[in-house]
Amino acid sequence: MIIKQFVAGPIDANNYLVVDPKTCDAVLIDCSEYKKEILQEIIDLDANVKHILLTHGHFDHILGLDKMRKELGCDVLMNEKDMWWVENVNKLLPQFDVAEIVPPKIDKFISDGDIITVGTMNFKVISTPGHTKGSVCYLLENVLFSGDTLFRGCVGRCDLPGGSFDEIKHSVRDVLFKLQDETTICPGHSASSTIGYEKKYNNEV
Ligand SMILES: [Zn+2]
Repeated sequence: MIIKQFVAGPIDANNYLVVDPKTCDAVLIDCSEYKKEILQEIIDLDANVKHILLTHGHFDHILGLDKMRKELGCDVLMNEKDMWWVENVNKLLPQFDVAEIVPPKIDKFISDGDIITVGTMNFKVISTPGHTKGSVCYLLENVLFSGDTLFRGCVGRCDLPGGSFDEIKHSVRDVLFKLQDETTICPGHSASSTIGYEKKYNNEV
C-alpha cells in the first residue's frame, strides 16, 4: 500500500491517505482540514477515495470533513458512540479559537471486527475506547492507524467527556499490545512508532 501522511488542522493532527497501488482505490483516515495538498496528492496518485475513515469524533480530526467529502464524492465512516462529539462539535471550538462549523454528516457506523475492503486492501476495525467512547483503530496488514489512542511514548488524554483511563489502559495493554511487535503505528498526532517499541518504552499504561 502507499501511505501519505499530512499534518493538518489547528492541532496538527495526522491525516493519512492510503492507496492500493493495484487498483488506485483509496481511503483518507481522519480529515482535520480541507487541504489543497491532500487533494493534489490524490490527483497525482490518480487515487479514487472510497471512504473517509474516522478514528474518533473529536473536532481536530473532522474539521475538513464536509467539504472534503463533497469534493471526493465518498462516504464517511465512524463508530456511532462518538456521535455526541460530532453533533456537539461547536461546543469546544471557541475554546480553541476555531470558527464554528456545520456538524458534518456521518454516512455509516462501524464497529469492532468490521472489515472494510477497499480495492485489495482490508482494514480491520478494532474498538479501543478510552480517549473517547467510540475510538477505533484501523489495522491494515502490519500497519495500525491508532488515532488518539496510542502515540509514540504515551496515550491519548482521558479527561474529556467519555474518556476513561481504565478503558484506554485495557485497550492498549490487552488489545493493541497483542498485535505483532513489528506492527507500525501511524498515530493521530506526532511521530510513528511500533507495537514492540511501545511495549518496551510506553510507561503511561
Ligand atoms: Zn482526540
